[in-house]
Amino acid sequence: MSLIVQKYGGTSVGTVERIQAVAQRVKQTVEAGHSVVVVVSAMGKTTDGLVKLANDISKNPSRREMDMLLSTGEQVTIALLSMALQELSQPAVSLTGAQVGIVTEATHTRARILSIETERMQRHLQKGEVVVVAGFQGISSLTDFEITTLGRGGSDTSAVALAAALKADACEIYTDVPGILTADPRLVPDAQLMSEITSDEMLELASLGAKVLHPRAVEIARNYGVTLVVRSSWTDDPGTKVVSPQPQPRPLVGLEIAHPVDAVGFDTDQAKVAMLRIPDRPGIAARLFREIAQQELDVDLIIQSIHEGNSNDIAFTVTKPSLNRAEAVASAIAPALRSTSDPVAGEAEVMVERSIAKVSISGAGMIGRPGVAAQMFETLAAAGVNIEMISTSEVQVSCTIAESDCDRAISALCAAFDVNSSPSHLGTKTRTADDQTLPVRGAALDRNQAQLAIRQVPDRPGMAARLFRLLADHNISVDMIIQSQRCRWIDEVATRDIAFTVAQMDAEAARELLLQSKSEFGWGEVTVNTAIAKVSIVGVGMMGRPGVAAQMFEAIARDHINIHMIATSEIKVSCVVSEEEGVRALQAVHAAFGLSGSERIEVPA
Ligand code: ADP
Ligand code: ASP
Ligand code: MG
Repeated sequence: MSLIVQKYGGTSVGTVERIQAVAQRVKQTVEAGHSVVVVVSAMGKTTDGLVKLANDISKNPSRREMDMLLSTGEQVTIALLSMALQELSQPAVSLTGAQVGIVTEATHTRARILSIETERMQRHLQKGEVVVVAGFQGISSLTDFEITTLGRGGSDTSAVALAAALKADACEIYTDVPGILTADPRLVPDAQLMSEITSDEMLELASLGAKVLHPRAVEIARNYGVTLVVRSSWTDDPGTKVVSPQPQPRPLVGLEIAHPVDAVGFDTDQAKVAMLRIPDRPGIAARLFREIAQQELDVDLIIQSIHEGNSNDIAFTVTKPSLNRAEAVASAIAPALRSTSDPVAGEAEVMVERSIAKVSISGAGMIGRPGVAAQMFETLAAAGVNIEMISTSEVQVSCTIAESDCDRAISALCAAFDVNSSPSHLGTKTRTADDQTLPVRGAALDRNQAQLAIRQVPDRPGMAARLFRLLADHNISVDMIIQSQRCRWIDEVATRDIAFTVAQMDAEAARELLLQSKSEFGWGEVTVNTAIAKVSIVGVGMMGRPGVAAQMFEAIARDHINIHMIATSEIKVSCVVSEEEGVRALQAVHAAFGLSGSERIEVPA
């Protein structure tokens, strides 16, 4: 007999009738011969309502009391669903996180799961009962029973973690859409269903704003090889399978925290082209990367930093043999890129660096753990390695450094992250002619980010490390870290600007911290912009395929939307635009990559 974990989200259990429909589906699963553990969310918008109540009483409520409050939502649903099952003569028992023994870190409101006791659930299952577990919650220890929650949207994570702990045959996430779509159908009505997606792609999409799955749920599925499906609560259609490679065996203790970095990689076949002082207006990035793509040159990292005055810097890396052609393209278009609004700025300047290397750390356990990137920067600083460019994705941090520092950097990183396997050569991916994978699988919009910029940060080894350690120690995760290419000399000290994005709810705390540290670190002005949106495209098929980034920039430029920041990783490209242009940019990009279908997806209220 197989064991299935089914999770039903808020909309799917939003009314009594819907809870009864869920009970029917669960009973059918039992009748088909399966043991079932059900995980549920709070009904409808209950959690939002509880947050509002708390905010009506306090601007800054205690995190402990928030957990006490928010965990009640799921407790209502487990009792009602168990009653509905019992009404159908299906034996069932409801259990809170504490009753199961879901043990988490002691970090209120964003706790990670450490371990899950399975005995009690197994006992009930053996009696033929359906076990109905409250999602999103746990306890910080088995002695003091402090209630914790996993972070908004965390019931998905509860479900996949239970499936891993119980070694279930499958974990099915039931929700209000037919599965994982090429974009959020509430924003892009002609989004299409995907029948399959890789866990790498889903990790990126989920952390870039596709809230259909909690990114940590994808991480657990990937680490433990859980069979994961996302399906509609309203139909019997098969939905979307999230496929993971065969994982290395890992222990179930320290479930969400063990070994955040699995691999250290490097690539010494890289060179950098930077264009400084290019005008800040729609279409510039599109034009540059279109011309590069026409030369069949594959660009790896691209970053565009915040503008200073009326101009931007863009830097990108190519393989060493492509450098001369890439430099020629950049130099050829530079004279045309004179900043009209800032004539003193003169024309764009092209800079190249021939001997750089890229080193990276990767592992799904980095998600939401800002200390990991900080530790990478600290390790490089301690080895005396200066970081030139930084690019981050949810599961990877890459830094470009001088080629001569590469060996030293790799051995320091392998030691720091306890990676014993030999570092992997990242190299350039070559594609076979019959490779049919679409370059882009999906697009996402994140409207919960804020952009911070720090001007004139002294350019010394260790600065990035200290900066990100400061934020990590306050549990602030940083995304899209970008150092400007332009160096400004202030009192004989070389300085650069650094820009990055953080979750909007962390923006004020981050600004305060940066201001408090201003004199200690010696940096200049700190600015915050919360009116931004981040548009991203994701697909493993974009590796080794020139022109994908150019196509995205062109789609955005055609709608006359200006790009503030660009950051890429191997399987994603993200652009920051202004908030009010976010949805339009998402729709433009979605259409440009041919992701639109002919059917409209209706999402029930
Ligand atoms: P649940 O309560 O079932 O957990 P959520 O609201 O958390 O549901 O997640 C489902 C919602 O995610 C959908 O209604 C949809 O608006 C949104 N969504 C965002 N991106 C995507 C995507 N790529 N595919 C499907 N749904 C998406
Ligand atoms: N009820 C929680 C929330 O709304 C957890 C979840 O639904 O996944 O965030
Ligand atoms: Mg959800």
